[in-house]
Amino acid sequence: MEYLELFWPIFMFQKRVLPHEHILLTLDSESKIRTKDDIDKFVTAELPDPCTDLRLFQIVTKCMVHGPCGTININSPCMRDGQCCKSFPKQFKDDTEENVNGYPIYRRRATEPVQIGKYSIDNRWVVPYNPWLLKKFNAHINVEVCASVESAKYLYKYVYKGHDAASVKIQKEGALDHDEILSFVEGRYVSAPEAMWRLNEFNLSHKSHTVVRLAVHLPQQQPIVYQDGQEAQAIERAFFKKNNSNIMV
Ligand SMILES: [Zn+2]
Repeated sequence: MEYLELFWPIFMFQKRVLPHEHILLTLDSESKIRTKDDIDKFVTAELPDPCTDLRLFQIVTKCMVHGPCGTININSPCMRDGQCCKSFPKQFKDDTEENVNGYPIYRRRATEPVQIGKYSIDNRWVVPYNPWLLKKFNAHINVEVCASVESAKYLYKYVYKGHDAASVKIQKEGALDHDEILSFVEGRYVSAPEAMWRLNEFNLSHKSHTVVRLAVHLPQQQPIVYQDGQEAQAIERAFFKKNNSNIMV
């Protein structure tokens, strides 16, 4: 933890999967991941060699292969208007490129594909991961290097976007008695894992530090608040106060 400045986890509930967590880690300036060598050291988006690390290969092929989707599986849930909403398959890339719109483009060399189930998979389908974390937890853990404030916005969006809602009414005949307020109140969807989490009063989000932005206050540059059109009176008042009490206002 000595390399961490800020630890910011958000717990997520979805209808189709078990609860999961999004965590934003801010590293101290000595430990920040800046160069492409740093990125390659911590994050990989390639299939490991089964001859050198069979266990990692098994976990990656089981947990970290996206889809497949696109032309080879057009019915994948990630498909929107004929395109993958997560932009898979990615392009092959010989070298990692740092910070393209806030995220790196990870190295994905064009190596021999491997057969996974009925699909032939290569490095274009691998979700970025950290080998150590994957072997430690044997689970889907997507790790990305974020170089933009957009990542904080992403977490906030999840916390504040509100609950899923559904309102269905089946009526045999007659005019529909539609109470919009009641539909809204009763429309909240709470899955079993989320109900358990809330009944036990577990935390839904957490931040290791509270970060407060302090206003800059330079010598002789005090802020003055005034109504529109009353600038002269405000200056006079501030000048009078300063001279009268000799205290900064
Ligand atoms: Zn997809």
